[in-house]
Amino acid sequence: GERLHRLIQDLLTLGRIESSEAPLEIEPIELQSALAVIMSRHEDRVKANQQRLLADGPPEPVIAFADQEALSAIIDNLIDNAIKYTPAGGSITVRWRRTETEAILQVADTGVGIPDKDLPRIFERFYRVDKARSRELGGTGLGLSIVKHLVNALSGTITAQSKVGEGTIFTVHLPLTRLEDNP
Ligand code: ATP
Ligand code: MG
Repeated sequence: GERLHRLIQDLLTLGRIESSEAPLEIEPIELQSALAVIMSRHEDRVKANQQRLLADGPPEPVIAFADQEALSAIIDNLIDNAIKYTPAGGSITVRWRRTETEAILQVADTGVGIPDKDLPRIFERFYRVDKARSRELGGTGLGLSIVKHLVNALSGTITAQSKVGEGTIFTVHLPLTRLEDNP
């Protein structure tokens, strides 16, 4: 069925990343427009769930060095989670900005949150906080492990902060410029 199909797709994605069969195409990506395209694909589901999907970034362009498909998969997974774990009436905000040294992207939600004891484990393969709820929502627990792999492959880092009953913020740090190929 649908779930087995998704599980197989996720495993294939992980396998591809790990074997680096499909090398990443790192190129400059302007975040406002790239994120707008990614977010637009979630609009229907957000509306159906009576949630709001908001964009929040500076007026000036922020250009990260990343692979388009990898960036899409990262943000798609984070938005998918935010949608699944946020009740009706809640909101999901995609933020971006730059610092001196890096581009910062965030997906924040006003959802159920993640208990402190589970937070260190959510990036593990097949780890789900609430197995019953997650299964109901069609999750296999691979999404965040794929996200972490992709962020690493882009020479970035990812962290999560959360408060039960208040919401969750995932923060992705990406390079602003092409990193030298160090031996
Ligand atoms: P899949 O992504 O494979 O469909 P999944 O969404 O259950 O399944 P992950 O994306 O890896 O798995 O997330 C792991 C677990 O972390 C989820 O099952 C859920 O318990 C928790 N989680 C992830 N994102 C959020 C969030 N935004 N709010 C609350 N809990 C979350
Ligand atoms: Mg997921």
